[in-house]
Amino acid sequence: MLVLLDRDGVINKDLPNSVTSLDDFQLLPGVGRSIACLNKAKIKVAVVTNQACVGRGDLSAEGLESIHQKMQQLLKKDNAYIDKIYVCTDTKILPNNRRKPAPGMILEAMQDFNTIPRNTVMIGDADRDLEAATAAGCHKILVLTGKGKLTYDTIKSNDCSLIVHKNLPSAIDFLLTTPLENSGRL
Ligand SMILES: [Mg+2]
Repeated sequence: MLVLLDRDGVINKDLPNSVTSLDDFQLLPGVGRSIACLNKAKIKVAVVTNQACVGRGDLSAEGLESIHQKMQQLLKKDNAYIDKIYVCTDTKILPNNRRKPAPGMILEAMQDFNTIPRNTVMIGDADRDLEAATAAGCHKILVLTGKGKLTYDTIKSNDCSLIVHKNLPSAIDFLLTTPLENSGRL
């Protein structure tokens, strides 16, 4: 199984104007311990994140790299790590096929980790995370942290393929106890 995580609002606190400094980056409760459970189970974990703040010039590429180093350092305290980080720095105005809701980064990750949509799950808090997962044909889980509650209120309630969890630890608990191929939710 490959687990793909949106970053802001899933791993760390979402901020209205993006995370543009090291101090802005704060892990959400329980995230490190739950990612460590995936690592321990030998399940690959990658981050799939839009960071238009770089494309807009609000954060440098080096600044983003430092924020991701901080993320890995904070996770390390719980013996957790992210196997790979996929970033799209395009702005909304000129997106390519990597910027979510397009599936480019998810397709790239599945290729890199040599896996297929049936064995892949995207966990996100925004509509565009879910749309990207749908476009890539993989499983998707909405978490209610970050923009999640707002997303839950606005999405169509007839999407029966959608699995909802209150936060990342809860979603990961579910994945570790419910094989994807048996969930019948693809
Ligand atoms: Mg998000």
